Formats: sequence, structure tokens, C-alpha cells
Amino acid sequence: MIHPTPRLRFAPSPTGPLHLGGARTAMYNWAAARAMGGAFLLRIEDTDQARSTEASLQIILAGLRWLGIDWDEGPEQGGAFGPYFQMQRLDRYRAAAERLLQSGHAYRCYCSAERIEAVREAQKAQKSAFLGYDGHCRELSPAQRAEFEQRGVVPNVRFRMPSERTLRVHDLILGDVEVNTRDFDDWVMLRPDGVPLYNFACVIDDIDMKITHVVRGNEHFQNGIKQRLLFEALGAECPLYAHIPLILNKDGKKLSKRDADTNMLDYRDKGFPPEAVFNYIALLGWGFSGDRDVFSREEMVQAFRIESIGKSGAKFDEEKLRWMCGEYVRRTPPPLLLARALPWLTPALPAVVHAARTHAAWLENVVACYQERIALYGELGDKIGWLFADPVLDDAAKKNVDKDPAGRSWLAAYAAHLEQGALPPSWPADRQGVDEVVRLPSKKDQPEVACAFWTPARIEADCRAFVEQLGVKFGSFVHPVRAALTGTDKGPGLFDVLFLLGAETCARRLRAVSDAS
Ligand code: GLU
Repeated sequence: MIHPTPRLRFAPSPTGPLHLGGARTAMYNWAAARAMGGAFLLRIEDTDQARSTEASLQIILAGLRWLGIDWDEGPEQGGAFGPYFQMQRLDRYRAAAERLLQSGHAYRCYCSAERIEAVREAQKAQKSAFLGYDGHCRELSPAQRAEFEQRGVVPNVRFRMPSERTLRVHDLILGDVEVNTRDFDDWVMLRPDGVPLYNFACVIDDIDMKITHVVRGNEHFQNGIKQRLLFEALGAECPLYAHIPLILNKDGKKLSKRDADTNMLDYRDKGFPPEAVFNYIALLGWGFSGDRDVFSREEMVQAFRIESIGKSGAKFDEEKLRWMCGEYVRRTPPPLLLARALPWLTPALPAVVHAARTHAAWLENVVACYQERIALYGELGDKIGWLFADPVLDDAAKKNVDKDPAGRSWLAAYAAHLEQGALPPSWPADRQGVDEVVRLPSKKDQPEVACAFWTPARIEADCRAFVEQLGVKFGSFVHPVRAALTGTDKGPGLFDVLFLLGAETCARRLRAVSDAS
């Protein structure tokens, strides 16, 4: 261990939203820090001034917060190792560049952009194995340098890469890898305007911020080689690196915008449960013990080790993500599920606002009836409209109603029966007590709730007796009734539907459909 306290960071560039890959990187660093009892910090790599925006920064922070990834140091949090925005650290980069110039690990390069472009073109034309800066200014004499300076040419500062050196590096995920520096050019550390490039700023910050472990995408593996040499040049110890494989699509190709939402907040806005998204992303390259796919943040932290991240690319599978969401929805207690789903319900169904205030238990029962049927909070609104306004029958419902020529007459008969008081009152009339006592969805063979109301079990017994008297097969009776009440052939069981809607509403709906013949 380099430092007594493990310190890990997520270092996004605020040039776009927090996407799936970034969220995973943040999560693995966060989980490793938490698992080791260390610190997790957020560093904003905003040196690409043309593309960095405050809006992107806010989207990234909101995405992390939504996933439940908190940071000990960084924006809005401060910390002893700040500032945490690279553009506020320019003096440190300048000082470090000066040190490296002094020690000979860096040199000033006066080449124009045109010359560098011409070198690149020539290399391409010659199909050269080496592509990159040709080292033109590597060995300038003091006199040559003075001449450029006199002409007012402001140089880049380049890192002097060893021209031929074999490095054996250890990566916590990739294992031991051998690399030769001959494939690298002398890279730019600092631009003429004093703004650093990524590899340089990253190392200076990792030193200043006492970073001990770095988990990041393996597109940074080659950067890691440059960075190791820079740590060495500065006499600092390099953090332990872990380069994680790319996230792939279902076909094993690089994940693109077409395969997944690129902004974490899109998942939030569509009503994906954040814990499910967290859990699913965690699985993109890491596995919980055994064959358990569903685990909490706390369980992940308990079990997480960087070394157990997989070597091969994980595949993003939207279907599995949705399955995971369904798992979480089912495990959420109805009052909490209602609170979570409310923002998606209220725009489409203003009556929900009222129901949530005056009939919370009733609304919780509604939500509970759909727990098995939805994966996203956002899906609930489309499904429960029939509870708040008399529905227009869809085609499937009409088919059910018209299946038996006598179907509509059963509806009228049952309406008359219900009017004699075989159901609890309709919402929003006073249902005090009714919904508090009865918990939906009702299941077969559930013990009878001892109460004075019409529970779904009692409604069923009464309904069966009525249907027997009517002389109709129970199966034939159920479907048209449920279709007339809900306007569809999907949704909760008939007795839960009757219970939720109550006497007046049921009778009215049944009559409306039977009269429409
Ligand atoms: N700003 C870099 C990125 O977003 C950070 C890479 C690193 O973690 O070193 O890819």
C-alpha cells in the first residue's frame, strides 16, 4: 500500500452527460473505496474548455446522486486536497512542468501545428509503423531555442519518452503486461496557453490528491503507460491501476447510442428504479458471490474487490435491466412504491394527487395490485387510468363482453345485485377503514380478514353464489364483467377490481356497458 488510506477518484470531463460506462467506472471506484474504508473523491477534468459546460457538470452530479454514489471530496463538498476542478489548478501544472524541464524529463517544442500535421501526413504516406511526433525539438541547442523565443514562438511542453525501454507493468485486472516505449511519441503535457493535457494533469492531480487506486476504462491503458513514466520522473509512486473492459452490446460490439440511453438521467426520467439501475450496472463486469444477481449497495460494498472485476467485456442487455427493475419494484413496500411512482402518475392523472392525500391506503392497494405487472415507475400511469374515469372499452374488452350473446344481460343483473349493497363504498366516498384493513392483491387461500367490510374474499363468495343462481359458468361470467369495469382484459383479478372500485362505480359501469348494446 502506497498510502495508509486508500483514496480513489472518479474523474469525469464535463463535456457530456454521465453515461453507462462512466457510471460503472464511478461505481467501481466508489465501491472499492467504501470496501477498503477509504475515501472516494470526484475530480472534474475540465481542461477541454471548448466542450466543458456547467450544464454537463450538473447532469453528471445529478446522475451520480441518483444512483446513490456519494463522494467525500469534490464539487459542492470541498476537501483538503482541492481544488477539485483542473482549471483551478493551472499553477500546479505550470510548476510541475517547470520541474520536469529542469530535470530534463520534458522539453519545449516549438513546432507549428502545420509542421506536425505535415509529419503525420508523411508518416501515413510512407505507411510508417510509428505515428506521432518525430522528436524534432528533442535536442535543440540553447541557441536554437533562443532563436525561437526571440521570434516570439510560445512552445508546447512535451514529455521525453524513453526511446526504447521495456516496461513490465502490473494491472489489477489485466495482470502482467509488457510494453515497449518505442511505440510512444513524446506527448504534449502543457499547451502554449498553459492549459495541461489529460495525461499530465491527471498525474499531477493523482499525486496531489494521494490517489492509491485507479479503476477506469481500458481505453486508458496506453495512457497509463505514459502516466507511469511521469510518476517515475517526478519521483512519485504510481497508483495501482485497474483497466476495465468496455461495455458491449448484445452482439458483442462496442455499445453505441442505439443500444442504450447515453444519459443516466434518461433512466431516471423514464421511471427506472435507481437501485435496480445501480445493481444492473454493478453486474456489467463484476459478479456478486454465487449466482445472486440482486443485491443492495451495502452488500456490494461488503463483497467488492477490484481484483474480482472480470477481464472480458460485459454485455449490456436492456431486457435484463428491465427484469432487474421489475425485481426491485416487487420488493418495494407499497407506500414507498407509491411515493416513488407519484411523479409519473400525477401529470396524467390529477385525481391521484387528491387520492394520495385523502385515500393513501386505497392508492397503496392500487399500486400493490400492479407490483407484479410493471418494471418502471413510469409504466403505472398508463395502466391505472380506469380507476379514475369510466373507461372506454378497448377491442379485447369488447370481445369479452360480446363473447356470449347473453353477456350484457349478466352485467345488468349483476349491477342490480351490487346495488343491494354487496361492495364497499366507491372512492372518493368515505372508505375509512376499508382500505386500511384489507391488503391487496388478494391471493388464493389467503386467510379471511376479520372485519365488517366487503373484503375481496367475501365479494368472491357472494359473486359465486350469485353466478350459480344465474345459472352461468363462472369462467364465462368473470371476463365480461371485468372487461366492463376496467375497459381492458388485463389488470388485477375481478374481486380486487370490485373491491377497489366500490359499489356505485361498479354498478354504473356495468349498466353503461349493458345499456350500450
Ligand atoms: N477524464 C478522463 C475520462 O473521463 C479520466 C480518465 C482517468 O480516470 O484517468 O476518461
